[in-house]
Amino acid sequence: MPEIPEIRAHAERLTEAYGGSELTKFRSLSFTALKTFDPAPEAAMGRSLDRVSQRGKYLRLHFGDLAFVVHLMQGGRLRDDAKQARKPRGGLARWTFADGRALLLTEPGTEHRAGIWVVGGDTEAQEPIVELGPEADTVTAEELASLLGEHSMRLHGFLRRQRILAGLGRRLANEICYAARLSPFVTTSKLDDDDAQRLVAAIASTVAEGLAYDRARPDMSNSADRPSVVHGQSGQRCPDCDCDDEIRSVTYRRYRVDYCPARQTEGRVLADNTTSKFLK
Ligand SMILES: [Zn+2]
Repeated sequence: MPEIPEIRAHAERLTEAYGGSELTKFRSLSFTALKTFDPAPEAAMGRSLDRVSQRGKYLRLHFGDLAFVVHLMQGGRLRDDAKQARKPRGGLARWTFADGRALLLTEPGTEHRAGIWVVGGDTEAQEPIVELGPEADTVTAEELASLLGEHSMRLHGFLRRQRILAGLGRRLANEICYAARLSPFVTTSKLDDDDAQRLVAAIASTVAEGLAYDRARPDMSNSADRPSVVHGQSGQRCPDCDCDDEIRSVTYRRYRVDYCPARQTEGRVLADNTTSKFLK
């Protein structure tokens, strides 16, 4: 799933291409995409797109005090709709502008989970953004230390919990734990101020790397393209420490945790299932 770097770079790209364009039409192409009914999307007609912004894993299209808040989920994309076909493949919604161009929200497959919320006024105070914790790369070490103390859970899950910290997913959680030299399975309440400081630095560096990568591209990267030190590198030689070992992983139903034992778990190789005694 796209995380802060990919969503933020895409928001910048869309602002650059569509900022200032007047909206003439919004059309929902699926029964499930539009999650709100008041205000109606038509309220934005005739208004110009001020900018597109990123918050957590959401894109926000700002038209004055109205915003379309869009979640792409796993494979959803919001991109230029050159063809403007009547029934575009995987099409969920279309924004048409006065200059004739259009933006199309698409999601492959049949299980459409991407969504659009039309929000009037402060998006931070309303669904779905109100559910989010602070933007992950804006918290200070002090703020993070208190969040770690408040939520006693495994670090990898903590980093991905959008209500605690917004914008990180499976890939960055793996990268951040590795960069901070912390076990993905450590209990957060056991971490100290020094750990919090290393985590803040690791969040900053991994987000910056991802941003630099996606900003250099013409469109949002696919998950397989994104440069990763440990994520998806199971079985590869660990690149960044002198451990001379390989990246190991623990596989769950919907994701995988990748880590370097020497660097992160005091050399312990965790059994590849969730009932391992090391995980308790
Ligand atoms: Zn290593």
